[in-house]
Amino acid sequence: MKFVDEFRDPGLGRVLAGQILAEVEPGRRYKVMEVCGGHTHSIYKYGVDDLLPANVELVHGPGCPVCVIPMGRVDDGIAIAHEPGVIFTCFGDMMRVPGSRGSLLEAKAAGADVRMVYSPLDALRIAKANPDRQVVFYAIGFETTAPSTALTLMRAKAEAVPNFSVMCNHVTIVPPLRALLESPDLRLDGFIGPGHVCTVVGARPLRFIPAQYERPVVIAGFEPLDILQAIHMILRQLAEGRCEVENQYTRVVPPDGNRRALEVMAQVFELRPHFEWRGLGFISQSGLKLSAAYADLDAELRFGVPGVRVADPKACQCGEVLKGVIKPWECKVFGTACTPERPIGTCMVSSEGACAAYYNFGRFAREREVV
Ligand code: SF4
Repeated sequence: MKFVDEFRDPGLGRVLAGQILAEVEPGRRYKVMEVCGGHTHSIYKYGVDDLLPANVELVHGPGCPVCVIPMGRVDDGIAIAHEPGVIFTCFGDMMRVPGSRGSLLEAKAAGADVRMVYSPLDALRIAKANPDRQVVFYAIGFETTAPSTALTLMRAKAEAVPNFSVMCNHVTIVPPLRALLESPDLRLDGFIGPGHVCTVVGARPLRFIPAQYERPVVIAGFEPLDILQAIHMILRQLAEGRCEVENQYTRVVPPDGNRRALEVMAQVFELRPHFEWRGLGFISQSGLKLSAAYADLDAELRFGVPGVRVADPKACQCGEVLKGVIKPWECKVFGTACTPERPIGTCMVSSEGACAAYYNFGRFAREREVV
């Protein structure tokens, strides 16, 4: 397969749907979690779940980078953005994430110099072009984006750019998955593994799921046929009584990941003892900060941040959505008080957020009969 259309072939999709149907046990309910927000987006964009038997339920996981940023970290970013002389840079989605007193977009409207960038290197370029200003990059994302932040920091150090720093909000995928598996209110039969993260970390870090929790994992790509094939592979493992990590996304994910990316991450970052996740609370060793060698480029140290913990709004049920406990349309404010134009919670902000995916593709309610 060379062209993307081939990964969206309706005929092959129907063949895979038939194979999935042949694999399920009548009367048994299956809950499969897609970890990554990119999968959630594809599932609803292409109607993948419409091809599944009613007793196969897809549950949405915590793998959307914007969705997991807690309000306190947004407030901390806004506090830095309001510092005199600061140019505050971040990805576009991040600008709309609500903090306790508004978003970075609203801070920009109020006079802060907040700019959208497409990569941390853009932020570094802005720093070099504005030597009399302090330029801060608000870094978010899992292991997928952390290497590009690490390489940018290495370049900033090598080129001795004194007015560039990073507020690091990078997180790692394994600790929240472990927390979910330990959660008593969630029963899962298997996982669609995060293809982008695994491009960097490989398959090995997910092996604890079958080894310790006896659940199959299939690392998957992001086209509809990828996702259908991954679901079929998970159901086949269950039918055959197997439980292992399989890689459907072999065209992109090497078994050992990207060694060079892992090396630069190890040089630039170290684990925080704990990090707060939106709706999930504090999770041990789940967040990254700049290592001692890069502490001079750490915006949190350069500016000092309030670091106040802010509770989510009462109406917000992002935590339950991120844990797969409820569907987005079950949140009381879904599609009414909370919309992509005026989000209350983070899951409605990014296209990778489950609430935004449901809203944008018209999934205002979905009840399925088990046959
Ligand atoms: S509808 Fe809004 S408040 Fe409710 S879970 Fe989704 S993002 Fe959060």
